[in-house]
Amino acid sequence: MAIPKIYTDETAARKHLEALLWAEGPICPHCGVVNEATELKGKSTRPGVWKCRPCQKPFSVTVGTVFERSKIPLHQWVWAVDMYTASKKGFSAHQLHRTIKVTYKTAWFMAHRIRTAMGDVADAPMGGEGGQVQADETYYGNTSKRSKSYRKGLKRKSVVVALVDPANGEARAFHMVDGAGANVVREILVTNADRKATLVSDESSLYTKVGREFAAHQTVLHAGREYVNKDGFTTNNVENFFGTFKRGMRGVYHFCGEQHLQRYLNEFSFRYSNRSGLGVSDALRAERALKSIAGKRLTYRRPH
Ligand SMILES: [Zn+2]
Repeated sequence: MAIPKIYTDETAARKHLEALLWAEGPICPHCGVVNEATELKGKSTRPGVWKCRPCQKPFSVTVGTVFERSKIPLHQWVWAVDMYTASKKGFSAHQLHRTIKVTYKTAWFMAHRIRTAMGDVADAPMGGEGGQVQADETYYGNTSKRSKSYRKGLKRKSVVVALVDPANGEARAFHMVDGAGANVVREILVTNADRKATLVSDESSLYTKVGREFAAHQTVLHAGREYVNKDGFTTNNVENFFGTFKRGMRGVYHFCGEQHLQRYLNEFSFRYSNRSGLGVSDALRAERALKSIAGKRLTYRRPH
């Protein structure tokens, strides 16, 4: 099978990104005006440079993004994003390095940048009026000194809190850097879940107080192996998410250091929230990730 042109040709990749991000015409990043720019043509200009008529400034679809700053050709980014988003279980930097033929160090950087972007895709409150949000916490990592995760810098177990909306299948997961206290768990819940929804959790005291801020709080007994409570509520979805995450980390990534845990959680949440079982195609999944990377302009200044 032939490799698509957007993976091998910089111009094709750029046009692909322009079509994706500029559905209504080119957007000037300097003044924000839409569809009032002309593409500059001529031997002295780089391809893909546009000039805004109102503000007269030049720009391109990648200006100020990691795509521009990284010096990695755009088609390699497009290829890498497609591979990361199409894989079901995860994709190692080593596989990326071999497939798209960049150095291992470059592949590792790209993988981490893609994971960071995956965490920025969702921002609307979960649950909604009449809906529900399942919350649960788990411990990640093996702290025995001979274990792989210990040698990779995981010297203590990390706490992860995850939220799942069972109606639309969306998951979000958070590494609790300072451990899980009721206050930090509350912060995560109220910034990610709609308080008009029903909170569903286990009987942990972490959720007792914040539960009162929601339309309703349903608890499921874990110790008693009560998988569905008397009102029909369950935390099965969020537990399944943790199962997928832990299997994936063991199988593909062979554990990760604590400092990278959040990015891997982003990757697994993104994949879970955009899985094919929810009707999300490979193309749409890749589109969402690409938009997220390109939509984030880096704020640091260019060195002179
Ligand atoms: Zn402008």
